[in-house]
Amino acid sequence: MGALALIGGWLVGRRIELPAELTRRHPELLEARWRVGGIPPRVGGLFLARPTVAGITLWNTVFLAPGTMLSPELLLHELGHVRQFGSSWSFPLRYLWEGARRGYSANRYEREAQEFAVERLRAANLPTNA
Ligand SMILES: [Zn+2]
Repeated sequence: MGALALIGGWLVGRRIELPAELTRRHPELLEARWRVGGIPPRVGGLFLARPTVAGITLWNTVFLAPGTMLSPELLLHELGHVRQFGSSWSFPLRYLWEGARRGYSANRYEREAQEFAVERLRAANLPTNA
């Protein structure tokens, strides 16, 4: 791996393809681009006082922390955020504002993404943690 690739990997991670079994069951997951590593999951972690978050979505790209299990629930939750980003140019600002006011778990965009994931899992008849 060259120096540029190393720096690139450190910044934006590397692109991954989701397992075919997952995208067969949830073809909507193909709407997003998926990457592992990079700075975004660590920056997300700063807001939650953790080393990293499992996943963070920026527009239509989802960054997963290295070693994160590709659980359908997590991936669908992040896809919910992809759709939120697609719904309005001002979504990132509204998300940050909501997070500043209510924190992470009471953030309505987090709840909405989780409801989206649970709904999609139910539709595919998979067990959920909710
Ligand atoms: Zn979320």
